[in-house]
Amino acid sequence: MKDISKHIAIVGAGISGLALGIILKKNNIPCLIFEKSKKISEYGAGISLSPNGLRVLKDLDVFNNIKTKSCNPRNAIFFSRSNQIANTPINVITTSRDLLHKILYEKYISMDGDVLFNHELSDLSLDSKSLNFTNKKIYKPFHTIGADGIRSKCRQKISNDEDLIYSGYSVWRSILFGNQKDIIFHLDKNVHIVSYPISENKISFVAVIKKSKALKESWKFKGSLDDLSKELPSKLMQKYFLDNNSSEIFKWGVFIRPKIKDLYIENLTLIGDAAHPIVPFLGQGGCLALEDAYIFGNLINLYKNDIIKSQTKYNHIRLKRVRKIHKMSLNQAKFNHLGNPLAIFLRNSLMKYTNIVSLRTRGIWNYDITEGLGI
Ligand SMILES: Cc1cc2nc3c(=O)[nH]c(=O)nc-3n(C[C@H](O)[C@H](O)[C@H](O)COP(=O)(O)OP(=O)(O)OC[C@H]3O[C@@H](n4cnc5c(N)ncnc54)[C@H](O)[C@@H]3O)c2cc1C
Repeated sequence: MKDISKHIAIVGAGISGLALGIILKKNNIPCLIFEKSKKISEYGAGISLSPNGLRVLKDLDVFNNIKTKSCNPRNAIFFSRSNQIANTPINVITTSRDLLHKILYEKYISMDGDVLFNHELSDLSLDSKSLNFTNKKIYKPFHTIGADGIRSKCRQKISNDEDLIYSGYSVWRSILFGNQKDIIFHLDKNVHIVSYPISENKISFVAVIKKSKALKESWKFKGSLDDLSKELPSKLMQKYFLDNNSSEIFKWGVFIRPKIKDLYIENLTLIGDAAHPIVPFLGQGGCLALEDAYIFGNLINLYKNDIIKSQTKYNHIRLKRVRKIHKMSLNQAKFNHLGNPLAIFLRNSLMKYTNIVSLRTRGIWNYDITEGLGI
């Protein structure tokens, strides 16, 4: 078994794990990524990256590569029922998750990075500092980073996630054929839709539906267009699926996990969804995952591998921000799904006549990633 007693072990080769790997490699800090899948892969889905996430991608030297192969919508257009209520200038990159993962992976590998695939963490011992994998391999790293996503094994060492709370929303997603320039939002009482281009002829479609009965939490659970048509207003169903009636569609329930007190314990630090699983209504989980990787990676370098100092500072910098965004994200769903006619009128007027949309995102998007690091 490889001696990794001086390495930082990263569990999970997702957005946060790969980004952290690149930052550590850049700073000549030994690291090794363990990934349960047999290769880098993502389910066909889109992702929108706002300026706070893009700043990290620039620092990782992958921004231009992603930008040239992705889309750069300049407007977010909002409809309430069929009426356009706002058109807000934006500067985001929308792309396919596959592409983002591939570019991060290739960058990490080009820096002599290593990913051990088919390594699914089964247990982690805080006492012996060892990582046990389902393939029976055992490693003892210098430090472990839990970057293993929403159903994190690592997180179980810090938080009991058995008390999941159903958010009251289910999500349907699909990749459709079509040409679209902007990000389009449709707001309605029981449903809101977000669609954006991910390439010249493909669109990411996500519908969030208010539903009292919880669906399973899984990105691989297939739905049918017949079922979706029972949930969506027929005009929207026609708009998106008239020419896409053979598209694959997936559906799942959105759950809220208990708040975590600290993002670390002893020899383990959490980043990304493992640290702060967030409801997806502001499209920020991936961007926060990139921010986490940037901050923890740079702290380790700044404090010359002093883990305790890095963990304490990381916790201090990150907790307040991710908690605030999580709360905003939950409120966003309520704002999108208003049912009372007076409340809808007020919301639509605010969106039409004030810059409330830009104001809400400004604090998130304009975040100075170097703040607190002193670099
Ligand atoms: C509908 C929806 C839309 C979204 N839209 C956006 C958006 O537009 N913009 C945005 O910024 N974010 C968005 N997000 C959130 C974003 O997808 C996540 O926050 C992001 O993927 C988290 O990255 P991560 O690295 O923490 O986890 P992941 O990307 O989930 O990576 C975790 C990795 O760990 C591996 N793994 C898991 N368990 C183990 C184990 N036991 N052992 C070894 N490996 C393991 C997995 O295979 C995976 O490779 C959205 C989420 C949803 C649900």
